[in-house]
Amino acid sequence: RIEVTGLHKSFGSLDVLRGIDFTTPRGTSTVLLGPSGSGKTTLLRSLNALDTPDSGVVRIDDVSVDFSALPPGKAGRAESARLRAQSGMVFQSHNLFPHRTVLQNLTEGPVVAQKRPLDEVVGEARTLLDQVGLADKADSYPHQLSGGQQQRVGIARALALKPRVVLFDEPTSALDPELVGEVLAVIKDLASEGWTTVIVTHEIRFAERVADQVLFLDGGVIVEHGTPGQVIGDPREERTRRFLRRVL
Ligand code: ATP
Repeated sequence: RIEVTGLHKSFGSLDVLRGIDFTTPRGTSTVLLGPSGSGKTTLLRSLNALDTPDSGVVRIDDVSVDFSALPPGKAGRAESARLRAQSGMVFQSHNLFPHRTVLQNLTEGPVVAQKRPLDEVVGEARTLLDQVGLADKADSYPHQLSGGQQQRVGIARALALKPRVVLFDEPTSALDPELVGEVLAVIKDLASEGWTTVIVTHEIRFAERVADQVLFLDGGVIVEHGTPGQVIGDPREERTRRFLRRVL
């Protein structure tokens, strides 16, 4: 479960997040929609303290960080790290380690950062690879895979750390169109298996199918939120309608 209260973030004089509040219940998928520059990526990165909000509270399950009261220096970094450990992040491009095999890419984090035993981690990693349809690629190197396969490894790698929530930042926008479907299918499977996910995407039809909740952001505020049927199917706000007319 994610709870966000009163989140504000500026870059210099640019107010990017201007008071964001929302909750995502455990096991649900939330999709963030909005025009370019509306603050979607900044919001996502604030959820795991990759960006540090100026004020507001982010809680993921039992870890809560009040950014208004974040202690300076080392203590603040430790609190941010605690929040970061709650989530797995999947970026536009996968950032896999190029000189490690697919399997090693999955085991590195759990073994090195979480100090878990290698044999246990390897078993779990193989199960995850199977889940994303890449069991036969365990010993390949990232450059030997297609962009869609690399992105699926990226997803499996995020899951290998057993995060409470999985955050996706435009996971298909760097892919050739014919590879988009396979990655979206994996994300949809995760959502139906009960992972808590937050997804920034421009794929509106996908958002309709996967989301329990859609947040429409514009100008750093949530203009409208609700089920996909409400926000995409029957938007109340003119700004949402204008956005959907442009992208659909
Ligand atoms: P897109 O759909 O184009 O990815 P977005 O809704 O994800 O857009 P953000 O990436 O969150 O938008 O950016 C919101 C605003 O904040 C933009 O005007 C962007 O230029 C600005 N911004 C983002 N990161 C920084 C940064 N590190 N320094 C300065 N400005 C930034």
